[in-house]
Amino acid sequence: MRDQTCCVKVPAISEDGFASLAIATHRASTIPFPDATAYQNRASRAPDGYSYGLAGTPTTRALEAQISALEGGARTALLPSGQGAVMIAILALLSRGEQLLLPDSVYPPARQLAVQDLARYGIETSFYDPCSITDLASKITPATRMVWIESPGSTTMEVQDFRAIADLAHTNRALVGCDNTWATPLNFKPIQHGADLVVEALTKYFAGHSDVLMGSITTADGQVGVRIKQTMSRFGLGVSPDDCALVLRGIQTMHVRLRHVAAVSLRLAEWLARQPVVTQVLHPALPGAPGHELWRRDFLGASGVFSLVLKPEAAAHLNPALDKLRTFAIGASWGGTHSLLAPMDVATSRSLPRPGAPTTYLRVSIGLEAEEDLLADLETLCAELTRRTSAETEAG
Ligand SMILES: *Cc1c(COP(=O)(O)O)cnc(C)c1O
Repeated sequence: MRDQTCCVKVPAISEDGFASLAIATHRASTIPFPDATAYQNRASRAPDGYSYGLAGTPTTRALEAQISALEGGARTALLPSGQGAVMIAILALLSRGEQLLLPDSVYPPARQLAVQDLARYGIETSFYDPCSITDLASKITPATRMVWIESPGSTTMEVQDFRAIADLAHTNRALVGCDNTWATPLNFKPIQHGADLVVEALTKYFAGHSDVLMGSITTADGQVGVRIKQTMSRFGLGVSPDDCALVLRGIQTMHVRLRHVAAVSLRLAEWLARQPVVTQVLHPALPGAPGHELWRRDFLGASGVFSLVLKPEAAAHLNPALDKLRTFAIGASWGGTHSLLAPMDVATSRSLPRPGAPTTYLRVSIGLEAEEDLLADLETLCAELTRRTSAETEAG
């Protein structure tokens, strides 16, 4: 063999006696076959075997299997983002003329997908009150194909009556899809409560370090999962094994991270609820908070994301007050080791009337910094809001 060929062909080496607690990162576009007949029969390897890199490598399969186990589902597919997972969960299963029901508190990019894209493809969307079974029932039609649940809701944190919604959907022969990103399967298991499919933004608590984007769809039924994989293959969607390795690493510590941020976020929520500039703390684990009873009935625990409603006169000073903080970062994609604050305006992402409800919320995501440093920042925030509000009152 000439040197030129030697540069291309790597000698076979023994793996005898090697083992590792880490999952190997297998990268591949081409999968070479042992002989020509195997190549000709490659389609028979679907859906779980290996025939083309886009459909996954053993690294991908390891992550799929781990998520299926956590969710208690039959199959899992991996997408390049949580939003990609929401998109494929809907597009793979709905057709022209069918109707999708989204809760009014749905993740805003999912609303945009429905309004701007699904509508162009002839899939019609209605928005239902996340807290009203009566409202949902009034919007179900013979065309309804999927009812979506996201509990707690984006920013406004409505906890939904999962079992009642799933039963109503199934009575009307609709599928139940769920975005479980806030809870993760460690704190809520949608399939056990009647979901046909679960989406997780793995970007958040699974990966857990703000350095990778990925999403998953887990189905209760294996055949539905195969349909989703086939759609992904035609759409040319897959994920990088290197990114899977990052998520596999993140999951190793997800349980301790979540337990920690749940406890710290609850203590800080209790403190915030006593501050005069705060009118409401929307943390499902906080006794007395909206949805707390449903959360206690259905969930196994909480995560570290919650929202605050500020006095309107204080909310007007939010931006300069946030700029004084030292430990919290300002940003959107929560679930990492860094604590985040994000002012959120929900005015353009709700369809139903919300008489008397505020439009500005402060979303909090607790990370892994010292609780004392986080509390000091929140003290600064409240003091700054109070100072600016009273300075205005005196001037006025
Ligand atoms: C972040 C998020 C998503 C989207 O995840 P990306 O990976 O950022 O696309 C979807 N749903 C919810 C509830 C989220 O918080």
